[in-house]
Amino acid sequence: MVNELDQLVALRHWLHAHPELSRQESETAQHMQRFLADNAPPDKIVPLAGAGFAAVYNGMAAGRTVMFRAELDALPIYEVNDLPYRSQRDGVGHKCGHDGHMTILAGLALHLRDRPQRGRVVLLFQPDEETGTGAQACATHPNFAQVIPDFVFALHNLPGYTLGQVIVKEGVFASAVKYMAIRMSGKESHSAQPETGASPAFALAELTLAAREIQAQFDDPSAYALIVPVFTQMGVQSSGVCPGSGEVHFTLRAGDGRMVAAMWRDLSERAKMIAEKYGLLIEFETKEEFAATSNATEAVQLIKQAAKAADLDVTTIDHPFRWGEDFGELTQRYPGGLFGIGAGIDHADLHNPDFDFPDTLLTPAIRIFAGLSVIAPV
Ligand SMILES: [Zn+2]
Ligand SMILES: [Zn+2]
Repeated sequence: MVNELDQLVALRHWLHAHPELSRQESETAQHMQRFLADNAPPDKIVPLAGAGFAAVYNGMAAGRTVMFRAELDALPIYEVNDLPYRSQRDGVGHKCGHDGHMTILAGLALHLRDRPQRGRVVLLFQPDEETGTGAQACATHPNFAQVIPDFVFALHNLPGYTLGQVIVKEGVFASAVKYMAIRMSGKESHSAQPETGASPAFALAELTLAAREIQAQFDDPSAYALIVPVFTQMGVQSSGVCPGSGEVHFTLRAGDGRMVAAMWRDLSERAKMIAEKYGLLIEFETKEEFAATSNATEAVQLIKQAAKAADLDVTTIDHPFRWGEDFGELTQRYPGGLFGIGAGIDHADLHNPDFDFPDTLLTPAIRIFAGLSVIAPV
């Protein structure tokens, strides 16, 4: 086992040193397929959307199909850590711990080498999680019909929680998120004569303030509704030019997807009114969208059972997390469960430049997935 753990840690470090952004994960996918072929050859590799693929392990007796999901992508974040396995790609880093999640599935594959007792285990290596598109693209790919799961499970490491603690919740676990761009365009003018043009400056400012007001109308302690301006751009750095176009981007979040839709309806209506007031053309673009991840009761029971068998502490949370997970696209289609596993109370946060997946998390995480692969197919 010591050898296996060393091997897995080496795999994790290789992945960490070679991060790839969403939609560019081909080398990562190839590396994972090679690891599986060399160490735990699956019965079948099913190519899915983008660089995504599923590795299938058929059991010795009939039973249900259980799928485990890991993500392939890294983030456009510069690594500040001074590690022997530091990111070799400037400005790209595994800052969400997907290198760890992939390695956990590799560790589960080693357990499946001698084949599951019953049922079928499918390891889903999904691309493009950070852009919110990969899970849906895989689930709607024609090849997905070959691996339809009875249960689908995933975990995410969570800094701020005790190392190895399992965090569960029935129902909504991760929020629905919509990332929208709003562009307004009018006409440039001399800044000495702004009345001869149509600048979006005050319109974008009004809209930004309106977003706060709309959020307040929706938010209450149970809704966890949030509208946040994340980006804005307008004009050129010239004292004489009054801008003719500009944009502001917002992320909208809530535990319930219908609430996100309602907030967007109000925000976009208000944006149209403001644009009209200033004589501007308006354009909307959906940049990213994450369905809420909703956990099935039976899946959560199975996770609790597996955590207990793996001797891991379980905590149930009352409110969904505010971040979105595109795993929601899978739990909308199949009974499933996403759970958190603590990465340490003081561990650097997800998406921070100093984040690094803790290798000590590999063994407990593999143990709980291995437990699920035994109890869920019954
Ligand atoms: Zn992330
Ligand atoms: Zn992540």
